Amino acid sequence: MTGLTLALKLACTGQKVIVHEQDPYLGGLTSESTLGGIPIERFYHCILPTDFSLLQLIDDLGLTEHIGWNRTRTGFFTDGKLMEMTTVKDFLRFPALTLFDRIRLGWTIAYCGLNRSWQRLDNEPIGPFLIRHSGKRLFESIWEPLLLAKLGPQYNRFAASFIWATVYRMLSARKAKGRSEKLGFVRGRYGKVFIALRKKIESLGGEVIVGKAVKGISRANKSADSRWLVHTDEQDFPAQGIVLCVPTHLATKWLSDSIDESLKSLYEVEYLGVICEVMLLKSPLTPYYVLNLTDRTMPFTGVIETSNLTGREEYFGHSLVYLPRYRNQNSELWNKSDSYIHQESMDGIRKINPTFCEEDIVAWSVNRARYVQPIHPVGWGNRIPPVRLAPGLAYVSTAQIHPWTVFNDKAIENVDARFAEVMAILQINE
Ligand SMILES: Cc1cc2nc3c(=O)[nH]c(=O)nc-3n(C[C@H](O)[C@H](O)[C@H](O)COP(=O)(O)OP(=O)(O)OC[C@H]3O[C@@H](n4cnc5c(N)ncnc54)[C@H](O)[C@@H]3O)c2cc1C
Repeated sequence: MTGLTLALKLACTGQKVIVHEQDPYLGGLTSESTLGGIPIERFYHCILPTDFSLLQLIDDLGLTEHIGWNRTRTGFFTDGKLMEMTTVKDFLRFPALTLFDRIRLGWTIAYCGLNRSWQRLDNEPIGPFLIRHSGKRLFESIWEPLLLAKLGPQYNRFAASFIWATVYRMLSARKAKGRSEKLGFVRGRYGKVFIALRKKIESLGGEVIVGKAVKGISRANKSADSRWLVHTDEQDFPAQGIVLCVPTHLATKWLSDSIDESLKSLYEVEYLGVICEVMLLKSPLTPYYVLNLTDRTMPFTGVIETSNLTGREEYFGHSLVYLPRYRNQNSELWNKSDSYIHQESMDGIRKINPTFCEEDIVAWSVNRARYVQPIHPVGWGNRIPPVRLAPGLAYVSTAQIHPWTVFNDKAIENVDARFAEVMAILQINE
């Protein structure tokens, strides 16, 4: 999303752009695959009514009529029971909380929603902030299991601004005019957006090369016409300028000769990855789109039942369920086999729905992505990786999105926010 939207903006200024994508398909983390012969997205994606930059892009690409909007339900699996948490009424009835807990939880959420600035929450770790506002009991029964599930045991490395951003996004979406309480999705999958992006870039004279990884970059000979070379296994591509839109470990690897104090934060970024089982089922597992889990023994982070957002007709009458597990780079889970992960998932699913049986599964697979969510440590707001890496060499990626979780609307906003700087680095005068 970052690379293609940036390429489109550059192409619109009359630049001849070439996009290099290593996979044989487009979309990166938002790309597609098939399961049981049915096309699906590798990971789950929804659109919020407040995803203004994304919705604008979709409109510019002529795809607005392909966006579906539906009301969805949210559940909690707590103390061995499934509970609805969709509306304020559900929240007030939630038996796992005392009246005092509810007031404190309501206060924490209201504090994040009313506070317009995240900066002052950027210097405090997430745990102490939540204990201060919600109390220890509520923290241990609700917040901590959710943090462990989403961010892993190192959740305290994240600043409180991260929880502010999560709550702020959720509340803004609920308040959105017209479509409040609804979530969107691309009918027939997100792949349409990337096909349209590609067509538009090509119609402006650009080129999108897929299935060939960039292996490195180097400065071109002084006598050459171009300033840089992009290396792939088969060919070197001369370029006046390069914008890297990849995770930081690749940028730093390719930059090995030009380490400079101003680039320090680029070397400090760490990522959470995701190991995500996806199952195609004969019947629904739960009535919820998102099921949050506060049971610390569950193997996965949550249950995302995409077919409860899109309707089962998107998957030929089947239900589609994602079971994500967020992990840091050192986790042993990366080395576990798909069948090990599947067995653990089955144990977790049976706790949620004891009547679930193996015969309900039409197909399953496990998708892995190592570089998904940059860790936002305390004070990260002052250490965001720079756009300028060298003359004619720019960097734009989700590592610069702070304090928000990574999602497509923010990826596009990030491109918009950095675009003028990119143009200056590439020495392009509009
Ligand atoms: C489990 C999960 C759930 C999500 N849910 C949502 C959601 O509900 N809503 C939402 O808006 N967003 C969601 N997202 C986030 C969304 O997918 C990301 O915002 C988006 O993919 C970030 O785009 P990007 O282009 O910056 O990064 P990426 O998608 O990671 O793109 C980087 C690209 O660089 C390519 N690349 C890497 N190395 C090379 C190389 N050497 N040569 C050439 N190409 C290379 C990769 O193949 C990839 O295509 C979710 C992500 C995950 C993983």
